[in-house]
Order: sequence, then C-alpha cells, then structure tokens
Amino acid sequence: MEFRTGIGYDLHPLKKGVRLVIGGVPIPYDKGLSGHSDGDIVLHALTDALLGAAGLGDIGSRFPDTDPQWKGIESRIFVEKSLALLRRRKFQICFVDCIILAEAPKLMPYFQAIQKKIALLLKITPSRVSVKAKTQEKLGSIGQKKAMAAFVAVTLKR
Ligand code: MG
Repeated sequence: MEFRTGIGYDLHPLKKGVRLVIGGVPIPYDKGLSGHSDGDIVLHALTDALLGAAGLGDIGSRFPDTDPQWKGIESRIFVEKSLALLRRRKFQICFVDCIILAEAPKLMPYFQAIQKKIALLLKITPSRVSVKAKTQEKLGSIGQKKAMAAFVAVTLKR
C-alpha cells in the first residue's frame, strides 16, 4: 500500500455584489470571492491538494484562467475532473482536512454543509472530511475583510 499527501492553498479578493460560495455552499454575506471561475477558495485548494498528492500538477496548469472555457465555471467541475484523473490512476481518498481563513462571517454554522458537499463531490463518507476556520485577528488583507483564503490537505492511498 502506498500513501500520499497533497496540500493546496488559495486566496481570492472579496468584492461587493458577488455571491459568496465556499466549498460549494452559498453563504449569506455582503461580499463574495471574485476571480477565476466562481472564486471558491476551498474547492480550488482541494483541487490543488488532489492533483498535488497524485503528482499531476496544479489547477493553474490543468485549468488555466487564460482559457475561456474555464471562465465563470462552477469550481466543482475542477474537483470532478481531478477526481477522474486520480481514479484512472487507482488512487483512493483517505482523508481531507480544510482550513478556511476568514475574518467574517462566522462560518461554523456552515461547516456541516461544506463537509457534506465535499464528501458528495469526492464520493466519500462525510467522516472522511474535516472543515474548520480561523480568523486572522484583524491583521492583513484577510483580517481587514479584503480577502479569504483556504488550505486543504488530502491523503490518498493506492
Ligand atoms: Mg482560485
């Protein structure tokens, strides 16, 4: 049995008039994450962690934002396409651990929905997904509510 770990990180700026979607779950807030596709920091970091653990590059090389086919696309597509690449190489997902860096809103009420959404996308049981959040003590761009970021670690076995 071979075990592998991958890590992913992503950050997007917050903008008014944009829908906030984290881990595929819409969250009520006066700002949302703007950028490549729908700006879902958790699903982007998850994609990078999956690809990283399998040694298959990263989201930027697989789904470049210069390619119009990925513009405004739902981020779950990146996760689903990465999962298909892993499955073709016989990898199974053991565990996914996520940290969301955000000053506001309080994300704890959404942890379970995000956990279930990620589990559904990856076709694993929710007990194999962990979701948590941290503020930045009002420091830096995240602490000043100008951005949000996420770290995701994935363990694979084969
Ligand atoms: Mg991104």
